[in-house]
Amino acid sequence: MRAAVTEHAGGRLAVIDMPDPKPGPGELLVRVTACGICGSDLHLSEVLDIPGLVLGHEICATVAELGQGVNDWKVGARIAGFPLVGCDECDACQIGATSKCSQAAQLGLARAGGFAEYTTLSASSAFRIPAAIDDHIGALVEPLAVAHHALDCTRRGTDEPILVIGAGPVGAAVALWARALGAREVVVSDPVARRRELAECVGATLTVDPNTEDVASAFAKQCGALPNVVIECVGTRGMIQHSMDVAAVDAQVTVVGVCIGSDEIMPLVGLQKELLAKFVLYYRKSDFTATIAALANGVLNPQAMVTGTTTFDDLPDRFEALKHPVDDCKVILEP
Ligand SMILES: [Zn+2]
Ligand SMILES: [Zn+2]
Repeated sequence: MRAAVTEHAGGRLAVIDMPDPKPGPGELLVRVTACGICGSDLHLSEVLDIPGLVLGHEICATVAELGQGVNDWKVGARIAGFPLVGCDECDACQIGATSKCSQAAQLGLARAGGFAEYTTLSASSAFRIPAAIDDHIGALVEPLAVAHHALDCTRRGTDEPILVIGAGPVGAAVALWARALGAREVVVSDPVARRRELAECVGATLTVDPNTEDVASAFAKQCGALPNVVIECVGTRGMIQHSMDVAAVDAQVTVVGVCIGSDEIMPLVGLQKELLAKFVLYYRKSDFTATIAALANGVLNPQAMVTGTTTFDDLPDRFEALKHPVDDCKVILEP
């Protein structure tokens, strides 16, 4: 099969021929029909020195072969891949919080991922998707589940206005889910005009350019008060402090943006406002179930998030281009 692999940290992806993987016991071999390119794929390719790693964890696929002991799947079934494989036995796995399993392995990191014609995953990590969800949207189930989990972990009233910091794929997904879950106002802040437009397409009721406008007062003007809920979806230095600065007293700041380096905050701001901070990562299996149901019945329409597609032939170039600030939201590989 063809697959795109990393060669060395900071290098380009290489498209190579490699043997088709074989499903182990309890696993499915799946033919990848669409795989989203994630900011974490871009970041991992910069820092990881794992020659031959197949990245990609936003997977829509068709079941191609059943591993030993799998009898509740049929070849040809369409799936979204929950990209974490756990022990299936510990307390965390039992409640679908696989990311908290001590043995959790991620597709596209500890195991081969979806930048390939075929990949394998455990049968318990495959989520059936109906015909109403096309392949591109199937590849969005994973990033949309991130957003659902973030909102699920956020203390808020049902129709409470929400401030989303950042309109990249995560911010857009949070805005989309927040409206679907009943937020009457979703204000999204991002310095890039194209991203603000995209946020409006997925339901933001107001967008703000933080370079030219005061985010807190723009929010207060729109919603009648400062934000009780701030969801940080950028993950660069200073963004947590910014979220604290714009939050109302007693607000919750939910941190979804993945900042890998060290960052500084002024604790006094949080103390004075008695802010509640919640850090979230990944999702639970229930977030996949909720996302697939909402996509299938039309509650979520994320079509605007897909801003491009690519094949193996142009994946290495497209992947490099995405490392620098671009107007793209989600670019999807069609292996
Ligand atoms: Zn991702
Ligand atoms: Zn486990």
